[in-house]
Amino acid sequence: MRYISTRGGMAPQSFSDILLMGLAPDGGLVLPESYPQIGREQLDAWRGLSYAELAFEIIRLFATDIPADDLKSIIERSYTRAVFGSEEITPLKRLHDGLAILELSNGPTLAFKDMAMQLLGNLFEYVLARKGERLNILGATSGDTGSAAEYAMRGKAGIQVFMLSPDGLMSPFQRAQMYSLQDANIHNIAIQGMFDDCQDIVKAVQNDHAFKARHKIGTVNSINWARVVAQVVYYFKGYFNATASNEEKVSFCVPSGNFGNICAGHIARQMGLPIERLLVATNENDVLDEFFRTGAYRPRGTANTYVTSSPSMDISKASNFERFVFDLLGRDAETLKGLWRQVDAGQGFELPAAQQIAAAEAFGFVSGKSCHADRLATIRQVAAEDGVVVDTHTADGIKVARELRRPGETVVCLETALPAKFADTIREALDRDPPRPEGFEGLEDLPQKVVVFPADAVKVKAYIEQTLAS
Ligand SMILES: *Cc1c(COP(=O)(O)O)cnc(C)c1O
Repeated sequence: MRYISTRGGMAPQSFSDILLMGLAPDGGLVLPESYPQIGREQLDAWRGLSYAELAFEIIRLFATDIPADDLKSIIERSYTRAVFGSEEITPLKRLHDGLAILELSNGPTLAFKDMAMQLLGNLFEYVLARKGERLNILGATSGDTGSAAEYAMRGKAGIQVFMLSPDGLMSPFQRAQMYSLQDANIHNIAIQGMFDDCQDIVKAVQNDHAFKARHKIGTVNSINWARVVAQVVYYFKGYFNATASNEEKVSFCVPSGNFGNICAGHIARQMGLPIERLLVATNENDVLDEFFRTGAYRPRGTANTYVTSSPSMDISKASNFERFVFDLLGRDAETLKGLWRQVDAGQGFELPAAQQIAAAEAFGFVSGKSCHADRLATIRQVAAEDGVVVDTHTADGIKVARELRRPGETVVCLETALPAKFADTIREALDRDPPRPEGFEGLEDLPQKVVVFPADAVKVKAYIEQTLAS
């Protein structure tokens, strides 16, 4: 299996070569030359597999240059009961009305990001050792991604993590989760500013090419291909859990921001998994909903991005969306390049009606949106009718799934976080605290390790330099 860029300017490369890559050298996103096709016979053989067995069967189709025994051991170490709390890894919970919730948030940081990041940590360590290289990950986080990356990379040989977060702006729970890590290779840097200031510093460091090369600076952002592949696995697992035979079809509803999670669903469907429809749920930041309703993709700036009670979806430029549009255009890299030139110029684009219709008819995409009041109402309704407390992002998904579901359709809603992470909104909805999973009692009282800096890339670079030298 070889990998190409959506913008057509990269010679085909192997999985190990693209694993540590952010953007492709031509600015595009990496995709396989073609998607492996899974027939009925293979689905029948896979139905009874454990999560790790299934993950191995799927990921080996994409990571063809990693020896099978090595890959198997990496996967077996990533998806364990000890890390994800159950043998099933991603249990399915049925609601009373044809909906089901696929639990993806039982990993160490209580959000679905762990599903991919835990594998990435082990893959990175393996590939770096094989190449005899080191990697220093620099990232910015407003919550979920940073902590998932830190828990995946802690203690890994050859890897240091420098994670910027806005000083005092995360929830006490999120703060405690990240800053209480005492591992020597994890470095928390609180920046006196907003999330955007953190991201600007990361960009400034990335653009200092000499510094970046000298200190082997890399990222783990959501465009990383291995993260997408790892997420393909739970669509298969969710499908098997929700059906009695491979004759059936199901639809998935996905709370979306950067389009990484649902992009994995698109790939599973292209591989031949019997997915009826892919339901995109957005919050008040509805760029994706606008696209699937009108064919116009109009990313917005920070000034036009709302701060909401489902904060991990407060995104107005969906970085993985380019992968889907590439497929929608019949993999025409030239046309895609033109469209993204318009995106980069701040204009966005509008597709011809025929292509907009194809997104729904040929690729199964539909969308809906949910706002704060919907979120509260859904949290209350699911708690009252099914006795389940869902988080704010998952609530957005359930709201949209109920709105779009057709009679008889099974819709699997992906759970993207646990409510314990968003206690304020749960209290607003239910007038009580969300349940806290075992092992997280007293988290806020643990000692914390963090340095505080002004929003100044020069100071951050000096800190990285000094830390790596010591
Ligand atoms: C990251 C995240 C999302 C959005 O997922 P994308 O892959 O960016 O579309 C939704 N909910 C939660 C809780 C998240 O952490």
